[in-house]
Amino acid sequence: MRRLLLRSLVQGPLTEPAPPADDAALAELAARVDRAARRRLGRTLAIREVDAGSCNGCELEIHALGNVLYDLERFGLRFVASPRHADVLLVTGPVTANMREALERTYQATPDPKWVVAVGDCARNGGVFAGSPACVGRVSAVLPVDLHVPGCPPSPLVLLGGLLALLEDVSTGVIMDQARRKREEP
Ligand code: SF4
Repeated sequence: MRRLLLRSLVQGPLTEPAPPADDAALAELAARVDRAARRRLGRTLAIREVDAGSCNGCELEIHALGNVLYDLERFGLRFVASPRHADVLLVTGPVTANMREALERTYQATPDPKWVVAVGDCARNGGVFAGSPACVGRVSAVLPVDLHVPGCPPSPLVLLGGLLALLEDVSTGVIMDQARRKREEP
């Protein structure tokens, strides 16, 4: 034990250093998301995150969207605790058998118009859990998916790019206009 303690004091932490932030890419992406959010949403989009059975790697990257570097809320995109307040369901992981009903009920509780974004390779095709008897499979086997964000896990920049694609998509833009009108109704 003493030897282990001494070694850890001499060696320091064994974690890898964080990759350098790509400030230019982030700034460009942030400006585009900001423009698209203003045009489509009038500055608000509510996101409900649903872990349908992930390893939590995707959640770590999604949480990073809220840190001081990415600061998602500056674009009017924010996470909400209830599907009843959400426009978008951000679903991670392969859908496990135990989470299937909860995912379906979350979808039913989300008011129209709504989008489903499948985040990560597991959500897209089962990923490393494909074929597991504990899993139903990809998210699109359970819910209609509007957008897939690939990666294992996708980085915050890729997630931001996915949200931007959702905002900029012409067909879903119609839905966003409906969402804005719905909000503006008395
Ligand atoms: S895509 Fe990768 S990080 Fe995300 S839940 Fe699957 S294994 Fe975990």
